[in-house]
Amino acid sequence: MERRTRTDSFIEEVSAIPGGEGIRLCIQCGTCTASCPNADSMDHTPSQLIAMTRAGMKEEVLSSNAMWHCLSCYLCTVRCPRGIKQTDLMHAFECLSVREGLSHGRTLTPAMYRSFNDFVYSLGSLPEAGFITWYYLLTNPLRAIRLLPMALSLRKRGRLTIRARRLTPEGTRQLRAILDKAEELGGVS
Ligand code: SF4
Ligand code: SF4
Repeated sequence: MERRTRTDSFIEEVSAIPGGEGIRLCIQCGTCTASCPNADSMDHTPSQLIAMTRAGMKEEVLSSNAMWHCLSCYLCTVRCPRGIKQTDLMHAFECLSVREGLSHGRTLTPAMYRSFNDFVYSLGSLPEAGFITWYYLLTNPLRAIRLLPMALSLRKRGRLTIRARRLTPEGTRQLRAILDKAEELGGVS
């Protein structure tokens, strides 16, 4: 009888997330890491994350800060000799990390995503003032108060939108269908 190991199950979990399919193709050439402009701030480099995933180091990978420091610049993706979409893989790690409750304690990015998603889902657009206020209420309400003078100054210069641009009911329905599908495919916010 075939035995599934802890290693196999983590690789399969990553492979099942859109963007994670290429995990088995890596030859560990290090091109992605050498190309990454933010590798220095990551506790594990992009190629190390792949090696660790293949070794079944689920908790270490999903609690890493690396994916949260990814700039989505796509350099790794365009240079990978195996055609692996490393940027998408970083986003797959983000999804799994949030899903497993292991998102790095020092990053506020999941709260930023959640705030973005809440607004886009309910309004179909992103009024900047409401979005950023909601984000700081979720993360650091005192900072929201400290940033008020800057917000007022931006508003005075017409650089901060307050009103949401409303979609038509049909546009809202279509947008929600897209977001629901993304969630069905494994996305989280
Ligand atoms: S560039 Fe591609 S093959 Fe090379 S280590 Fe990175 S993901 Fe693996
Ligand atoms: S997309 Fe992310 S992981 Fe890839 S090179 Fe850019 S910052 Fe680094």
